[in-house]
Order: sequence, then structure tokens, then C-alpha cells
Amino acid sequence: MNSTSISPMRWHLKKLARRLMILSSLVLNPFGNARRSQIRVLTYHRFGDQPRDPFCVTPEDFEAQMAWLARHKRAVSMEQVERFLRGEIDLPAGSVLVTIDDGYQSVHDLALPILKKYKIPAVVFVTVSAIDHHEDPEPHLTWNEVKTLASHLTVASHGWTHRSLGKISLEEMRLEVTRSRRMLEEKLRIPVTAFAYPFGTMADFNATTATVLQESQYQFAFTSQHGAIAERESPLNRFYLPRIKVEGGEGLWMFRLLVGGGLDHWRLIDQTLWKLQQSPGRVQG
Ligand SMILES: [Zn+2]
Repeated sequence: MNSTSISPMRWHLKKLARRLMILSSLVLNPFGNARRSQIRVLTYHRFGDQPRDPFCVTPEDFEAQMAWLARHKRAVSMEQVERFLRGEIDLPAGSVLVTIDDGYQSVHDLALPILKKYKIPAVVFVTVSAIDHHEDPEPHLTWNEVKTLASHLTVASHGWTHRSLGKISLEEMRLEVTRSRRMLEEKLRIPVTAFAYPFGTMADFNATTATVLQESQYQFAFTSQHGAIAERESPLNRFYLPRIKVEGGEGLWMFRLLVGGGLDHWRLIDQTLWKLQQSPGRVQG
């Protein structure tokens, strides 16, 4: 497996910033942001023991997090979130949807057994052209593994090649979203209604990407902008849904606060950074 670890300095600074934000949210709002009918969507990427890799969560941490969600009856399915967004059902405040991006093999080998054990209904957003092909930084899923995942979880699209939709032509954008949806539907014989923007920063989605997704028969799209989903999002907002990234190397206390809204304001940092530097050198997301 190739290393995707970041420098110790960058690792510690990032962890410090996340902890400071979570702790300040505790001081400012000790009872959490659990307003009525607010739900949060968590983003994972890979699972394993890679040190100082924010995209890689250890199986032990993941199991403790899923056990906590199960114990507190917080986990909801994509189908429930879809119905909630359409205003058809209510969901308890603090409900959580687990999503996993990119489609690496560790989702099948390490995460799936844990999700099954705790009956957590997650969504896996796969980069479709990488299935059976790419090996970077760990092997991607095979079609057989994607089929196994689809029989237990929701499988949806993360684009055809993991390119930023915000940085390609309209024609390429249509290809990315339509080709990936059609291939998944054809191979898995399931309807694909949800999309997760590759990278998901402010530079990777806009009104045009939302329109193209809508025209390509998607109903929902997730960004990487932190925050909670409120009751009955407008049809347009369904294409800019927020998610909160769960990083490697953080304990259960951090996870519990993050699920309670402690990192909702991280989007302000993201937006400020976006304005300062138009995010060069991104490899994952
Ligand atoms: Zn991604």
C-alpha cells in the first residue's frame, strides 16, 4: 500500500484545530446543536492502520463509533434520508447517515463486517471507472465486491473518474455523472439517486453541476461542506447537502461531539481557506 501519511507537523496542527473548534462549540453551546429534525451525514474514506493519514480510520475506532451509533439508535438509511428530505417522514433529532467515499477495498474487507454486525445502513459512493482497476493508495473494489456491498448497503455514484465537476467542461460533466449512474444501474440492477461530489470543496460544485445532476436523473448530491441537514430542504438544496468528515486518529469523545454538531462550523474555515487559496495539490477527498 502506498503511503498517504501527512507530515507530523501538519497532522498535529490539523488535529489541534479540530479539537479547538469542538471544544469551543462545547463552551458556546453546551447542549449541542441538536435542534429538532436535524440530521448529520458522516464521510469516511478508507480503513486500516496507516499512521497520520486523515483519510484512514482504524477498524477499532470505526467499530467503537458504529457501536455507539447502534447503542444510541442514531443511524438512518439513505432511503429514510430521501423521504425526510421530501417531507414524507420525520426523523429523530441527531440522526446520522454514514457514507463512505471512493470505493476502496477496505470498505468491503474491514468496514462491511462491522456495519453488518451493528446493522448500520451506510452509503458507499464509488468512483466507477476505478472499479477492478486502480491500486492507489490501496486497491479499489472489484465488481463482485461492489455487488456484495449493494446487497447490504446503498451504492451510489462518486463520478466516473473522480474529477472535480467544477473544473471540467459541460460535456465532460455530463459524461462523469451519466456514465457512472448508468453503469452502476446496469451492473447492480438498482436505481442510483445520489451523488457525492469528488473533493466536495467550494470549487467542486456550483449551480451548473446541480443542474447537470438534476438533468441526469439524480435527486440528491452531497458536498464536503460541514453542517447539518435541516427539515425539508428545498429541491435545490438537495444538490448541496453537507457532510462531516470523520478523520483517522480521533477518539470516541471527538466522534460523539462531531455527531452532536461540534464541527458544523468547520465550513467557515473551509470557505475562508477557499477564498485565500484555490486549493492546489489535492489528491483525495
Ligand atoms: Zn473522493
